[in-house]
Amino acid sequence: MFELDKLVRDNIKRLTPYSSARNEFNGQSGIFLDANENPFGKYNRYPDPFQNELKKVLSEIKNVKSENIFLGNGSDEVIDLLFRIFCNPGEDKVLTFSPTYGMYRVSADINNIELVDVPLSSNFQINLERVLPMLQDALLKLVFICSPNNPTGNSINESDIKILLSSFKGIVVIDEAYIDFSPEQSWSALIEEHPNLVVMQTLSKAWGLAGIRMGMAFTNTGIINYLNKVKPPYSISSPNQDIALSAIQNIESFEEKKQVILSEGPQGPCFS
Ligand SMILES: *Cc1c(COP(=O)(O)O)cnc(C)c1O
Repeated sequence: MFELDKLVRDNIKRLTPYSSARNEFNGQSGIFLDANENPFGKYNRYPDPFQNELKKVLSEIKNVKSENIFLGNGSDEVIDLLFRIFCNPGEDKVLTFSPTYGMYRVSADINNIELVDVPLSSNFQINLERVLPMLQDALLKLVFICSPNNPTGNSINESDIKILLSSFKGIVVIDEAYIDFSPEQSWSALIEEHPNLVVMQTLSKAWGLAGIRMGMAFTNTGIINYLNKVKPPYSISSPNQDIALSAIQNIESFEEKKQVILSEGPQGPCFS
């Protein structure tokens, strides 16, 4: 059985989050005196801390309810938040499969968390026989699966991920930074079925918006609430919310550019 509260660090469970003026007010008034903002200028107001308008449009494109979406200042911020919510520094461990994205190790090092690495097999798949016994370790809190994997380009077998999801009592993070280039379905459709699943995507790659730092996490509302509790209150600036909104409302241009990139990519096993 998966019990979220048993996995979360005690100090995070006890934490009283910062409560901003924008959190507390949800009417339509244009008069705000309680956030000490300047009345002049274009960017004088603090941004919507929960990016509700942007999430509404993302929700339609991604087929995930708004309440199941968290936005980070890049998915790199989501990775770091997951460490800070679930991993006790100097005690806990996370699992990765190399070669893979370098930020998992950097975040582990910053948070003083031991990173256990099991190399992918010769066809870049997870060595389940080696991994399954490791999942019993109560100090293991997060497993990072990058699929399609950076740098190998292949997707991890669906059946192996399903076995990991149902055998592990900790959190399984599936990093789908390259999913838009892949014919595979996103794992986001399974977040209801698997309460320990966090799916990450980003606007940095196929969407061409690495400069605005917009990462997404799709997961159940229990984990979303903890992400909201720990994040800096205004991590996504209003210009960035605006740029993301207009980009995702122009799907045609996105599809066009994606096709150009795909047509220039290697033929063969990549992204299959
Ligand atoms: C590029 C990349 C990211 C970066 O995401 P940001 O949203 O730009 O922080 C995350 N994961 C993988 C595997 C990547 O290759």
